[in-house]
Amino acid sequence: MRLAIDAAKKAAAHDDVPVGCVLVKDGQVLGTGENRREVEQDPTAHAEVVALRNAAKQLSGWRMDGVTAYVTLEPCAMCAGALLNARVSCVLVHCLTLEFLELSLEHQMKRPEQLGPVTTC
Ligand SMILES: [Zn+2]
Repeated sequence: MRLAIDAAKKAAAHDDVPVGCVLVKDGQVLGTGENRREVEQDPTAHAEVVALRNAAKQLSGWRMDGVTAYVTLEPCAMCAGALLNARVSCVLVHCLTLEFLELSLEHQMKRPEQLGPVTTC
C-alpha cells in the first residue's frame, strides 16, 4: 500500500487528484499507476487503468489472475469494471477519502494511526 500512496503523491505533484494503484502478484510489482487525467487530458487515465495498462505491458497479456490491486481510494465504476474485466483476484482499498488523503499529503504522508483512526470509507 505504501507504493500506492507514493503513486498518489506523484498524481498530486502534477495537479491530478491524488489516487494511486499498484498491482502485485507473488510479491512482484507488475504495474503501478497514478491518476493522470489532467496531465494526459485523458478521462480514462485513472490510477487503476494506468496500472492495468502498465501491468499488461509487463505481462504481455491482459489476464491478471492471481493479482492483487492496492488502491488508495475506492475504485470508481469504470475502474471497478476494468479490474473485473482484467480478472484481478483481489482489490485492497486503503479507504481514504480524498479529504483525508489531502490531509495526509500535507502532513508528509504520516501513517493513518499517527493522524488518528479512519472510521469512514
Ligand atoms: Zn476510476
